[in-house]
Amino acid sequence: MNVLQNAIVPPIRATRAIVDLDAIAANVQALRSVLTSGCELLAVVKADGYGHGANWVATAALEAGATALGVATVDEGVSLRQAGITAPILLIGAIDLDEVARACGANLQITVGDETLLAAVQRTIYNREGTDVVVHVKVDTGLHRYGAAPDIAVELIRRVYNDAGLRLGGVSTHFASADEADDEFSAEQLNVLDRVLKDLAGLGIPRPATHVANSAGTIRGLGADRGVVRAGISLYGVPPSHDVPLLPGMRPALSVVSRITRVMPLSRGDSVGYNRTFRAESDMQAALAPIGYGDGYRRGLAHRSWAGINARHARLLGRVSMDQIVVEIPEGQAVAVGDTVNIISTDGEDAAPTVADLAAMLDTNTYEILVGLRARIPRVYLRAGEVEAVRTSSMEWTRDSISGADC
Ligand SMILES: *Cc1c(COP(=O)(O)O)cnc(C)c1O
Repeated sequence: MNVLQNAIVPPIRATRAIVDLDAIAANVQALRSVLTSGCELLAVVKADGYGHGANWVATAALEAGATALGVATVDEGVSLRQAGITAPILLIGAIDLDEVARACGANLQITVGDETLLAAVQRTIYNREGTDVVVHVKVDTGLHRYGAAPDIAVELIRRVYNDAGLRLGGVSTHFASADEADDEFSAEQLNVLDRVLKDLAGLGIPRPATHVANSAGTIRGLGADRGVVRAGISLYGVPPSHDVPLLPGMRPALSVVSRITRVMPLSRGDSVGYNRTFRAESDMQAALAPIGYGDGYRRGLAHRSWAGINARHARLLGRVSMDQIVVEIPEGQAVAVGDTVNIISTDGEDAAPTVADLAAMLDTNTYEILVGLRARIPRVYLRAGEVEAVRTSSMEWTRDSISGADC
């Protein structure tokens, strides 16, 4: 279907991100197919579902067989609860001590990596009635980011286990380099975790659920047999790195399209954009498109990136402005105002760069490109080729309801 048609109700900006929820579902199924039986998939939807829209991604992932969600901040978890999501939600990193009560109130599971946070959780539950608070203990096995050193982790786990108001949801760790070809350090990390589990057994504590693998670990079979995996980037159909390709059946969920707002002839010597960094070497045609660094189309893409017009490369001309870019109209192409310009493509087939292409141009990872797409770009959600919902920064529309669009 042509998602640039005005058939989309309500009318939105020409620049839009298309999120294919069927791709999210297919990616969940592909991930689950490589898990040992009984192993569960926790869908990581932090940072607004890697820029895709956390509520929509979460719902699609849960429907496709994910059993829990992972977020980085209390606010992200509360926002999923406000959307009516009742599945388990794990805070995968540290939270501020002041936020503990709010996290418990929203029934979010808390990851503890130090004594101070555990004490704050224990203080909070003494003043609270209701169900147990689920706590996960994170072990630092060599990433040296969040988590407790192994001996301290054993002590934290023991305390959680012995506290009647707490339930030990799991013991976790996070790989430092599962996205590299060399597995040696990942294996060392798994050994450190196994020593912790052995110490627990020595204390008579039943073996807890463990979760270790991110997308790269899951795809490569590192720690993917530990009860739960925490998958983020692969859920969105984007490979974790060059060394870790996607599984068969996976595909990117997100593309970005826009429409040409002006067609202009340039004569030899004409300059384009701020500071005149591009000068036409011969007569040519250029097109204006309404996307810029205010949308997360980064300024560093100037003189490197391109767009897709009629399935042909259309190179960027001059600087990226906050709200606009100018691209070359490929030679011999007849183009008019209102025509489609592809900004980010899922597979490069429409000649626009993929998320991985943009990441390479900016010397960053695919994660940062996705997360950098700002809320100002409307998200259009497709299911079975039909528009199911539209989210802009001021309203959310679904086929049966609309909120915030009264003006
Ligand atoms: C972000 C994150 C993940 C997901 O990683 P991907 O590489 O996106 O699959 C898993 N676990 C933790 C602790 C994370 O911070």
